[in-house]
Amino acid sequence: MTPQDPEELAADVVVVGGGPAGSATAIELSRAGRSVVLVDKAVFPRDKCCGDGLTTLALRELEHLGFSPEQVTDWFRVDGATLRSPSGREVVIPLPDQGTYAAIAPRLQLDDALVQLARKEGVDVRDGNTFRTLDQLDDRVVVTAGDLEIECRYVVAADGMWSPVRKAVGAELDGYLGEWHGMRQYASGVTGPAASRLFVWFEADLLPGYAWSFPLPDGRVNLGFGVLREQGWKGKDIKAVWADLLSRPHILDALGAGHVLEDRHTAWPIPARIDEIPLTAGRVLFVGDAAAATDVMTGEGIGQALLTGRLAAEAILAAGALQPDVATTIYEDEVGYHLAADHRMSLRLGRVLASHRGARGAIRIVGASGVWGRRNFARWMFEDEPRAVVLTPGRWHRGFLGRPGAWSA
Ligand SMILES: Cc1cc2nc3c(=O)[nH]c(=O)nc-3n(C[C@H](O)[C@H](O)[C@H](O)COP(=O)(O)OP(=O)(O)OC[C@H]3O[C@@H](n4cnc5c(N)ncnc54)[C@H](O)[C@@H]3O)c2cc1C
Repeated sequence: MTPQDPEELAADVVVVGGGPAGSATAIELSRAGRSVVLVDKAVFPRDKCCGDGLTTLALRELEHLGFSPEQVTDWFRVDGATLRSPSGREVVIPLPDQGTYAAIAPRLQLDDALVQLARKEGVDVRDGNTFRTLDQLDDRVVVTAGDLEIECRYVVAADGMWSPVRKAVGAELDGYLGEWHGMRQYASGVTGPAASRLFVWFEADLLPGYAWSFPLPDGRVNLGFGVLREQGWKGKDIKAVWADLLSRPHILDALGAGHVLEDRHTAWPIPARIDEIPLTAGRVLFVGDAAAATDVMTGEGIGQALLTGRLAAEAILAAGALQPDVATTIYEDEVGYHLAADHRMSLRLGRVLASHRGARGAIRIVGASGVWGRRNFARWMFEDEPRAVVLTPGRWHRGFLGRPGAWSA
């Protein structure tokens, strides 16, 4: 091999992208005995612009992967949330204490720990290799990434919002910029209630978007906000509102005197169009943000990334190497079953929260309900059960709404 020659590899599956979606896919496949090469353009540990909030869906998927919170140094278990309506009403909603229903885990640490778990499970992790090309033949796919040329049966594209794999197979949506746009910055030296409590602020000028402060250990928080693009938000307005938000009295009160903003703020789009985007292309399956799988009401997508990663792996395992049509059909059906009804429900609820009156009314109702009602609202908000589960009896199960959180044992 001369220095110019690519390193040639063969695997059952190539996973492009080592975020939660890619790691989940790779771990599931490797555990089932398939050979997997995972490529990522970044070298881990790498950061990802995110609120770092883990919903119950994400926690259940992590538990299923055999992941343990101890693998993340700055893991912060959340016991409840404080919601503030546009008119200033604050409601504290507790979460049940049997197991974990919500947690915060910095992506720098979480994603690295997942990649390490994948390595431990036998995945050939080749970080620092940028995906370049993909050639689909009758019975296999040839992928080039960095200095690698890999022959495989399937490609799972877990390469995020801008999915270069989607572009390579010509399945991109023209001019698509994502439904949400989010901005995030860490702060330290937090002495107010935000040091230990999760805050969600429904600000009148952001609706149905919202601002947040998510607690981390030692007086650090993840601060940020998200807005819907269809409401005409442009980059410069987003930047301007950030400075303004940080000077609002209720936000300053929550952070307390002496807090310091760390580093710089970062912004990134959030895709939420699982019902309209192609999920497969030949022997390629799209997962996570590359499948626009985030919750259209909240912009949360780690749980959906882990879930779609698992579903893609299960579809490939069920179909085997020689039946790509079966794999893609199973995957599309499963994604529809798990996420389509919830997406429609979230779209409807998002419209309620879009108005000042709707957001105010929703928080008033939650505030007026008893402890049981608030607890269950919190569980529903953190995706303990799928959003539209009430409308889809096929997904009802024993213990529905009575399940303990993750790692309850
Ligand atoms: C501001 C903000 C706040 C958010 N807050 C939350 C939250 O609190 N909770 C929540 O659940 N979700 C949140 N989300 C959404 C969440 O971040 C995403 O849904 C999630 O990261 C999707 O995971 P993924 O694995 O699909 O993609 P990613 O995490 O984006 O991973 C994609 C990977 O692909 C790699 N890649 C890209 N291009 C290439 C290439 N050419 N070659 C090789 N590799 C490549 C990247 O390096 C990356 O490692 C937030 C998003 C934003 C923007």
